[in-house]
Amino acid sequence: AAARLSGKTILITGASSGIGRSTAKEFARTSPKDLKLIVTARRLESLKSLSEEIKTEVGEGVQVLPVQLDVSDPQQVAGLVGKLPEGWGEVDVLVNNAGLVKGMAQAPAIEAADIDIMFKTNVHGLINMTQAILPIFKKRPDGGRGDIINIGSIAGREGYAGGSIYCATKAAVRTFTEALRKELISTRIRVMEIDPGQVETEFSVVRFYGDKAKADAVYAGCEPLTPDDIAEVVVFTASRRENVVIADTLVFPSHQA
Ligand code: NDP
Repeated sequence: AAARLSGKTILITGASSGIGRSTAKEFARTSPKDLKLIVTARRLESLKSLSEEIKTEVGEGVQVLPVQLDVSDPQQVAGLVGKLPEGWGEVDVLVNNAGLVKGMAQAPAIEAADIDIMFKTNVHGLINMTQAILPIFKKRPDGGRGDIINIGSIAGREGYAGGSIYCATKAAVRTFTEALRKELISTRIRVMEIDPGQVETEFSVVRFYGDKAKADAVYAGCEPLTPDDIAEVVVFTASRRENVVIADTLVFPSHQA
């Protein structure tokens, strides 16, 4: 199945850590060597080290292009495709993974800046990227071709106390994804969503403003998923036959059911 990815260009947002980083590695590990990976995030150094790690692990062949990108900045995103080097612009798969949560406050106490960053990253960022890449997909024959894989969350399906804004952003991702899928129904553009449950990444450190002790406490007494668990699902989703749309996938650790 991985052979179906032959010659494709995959663009991943939020590839500097966690699920995005693992997804880049999983594509590189399991796919044909003529794959091109555009790995993006704000932390360029981390993307460069990812690129080196992939080269060490899979050898030469898979090409990796690290690109510094803040998805919440509409101008940066709009300029992205024009800035890509020759031979890199024909993106086939967009993995909209960049996202974050800030704070665990009850709704009335949430800082305006935290509300802003969550919506600007998780919702506007994902929409910005979609609008930037869709024209490439639409130019292809028969109404278009390409994959958009959005990383939502179990939080988009059910609200939890202390997570109201994050849950609202992920619910927005969910309905946006569904609406876009319907808009593109007569094309070969697949719009798909993967919703992880608890995954141990830097996510929780970001949530608690860098407080590692608080972040670690979230995982005490449970066994969260690893980012590789989600990465495998992303690659599986992208490598189905063109007529197969894995529209909506929920993946959680057994303790979370
Ligand atoms: P991490 O914090 O490890 O990774 C988040 C990634 O998003 C980083 O690479 C970060 O890179 C990037 N990012 C954040 N803000 C921006 C921005 N403005 N522009 C570009 N990139 C940005 O967390 P996860 O890997 O866990 O999170 C990945 C996705 O999975 C998110 O959408 C999250 O909501 C979702 N998710 C996570 C779950 C979990 O339990 N971990 C559960 C359900 C969903 P940088 O800082 O370099 O920009």
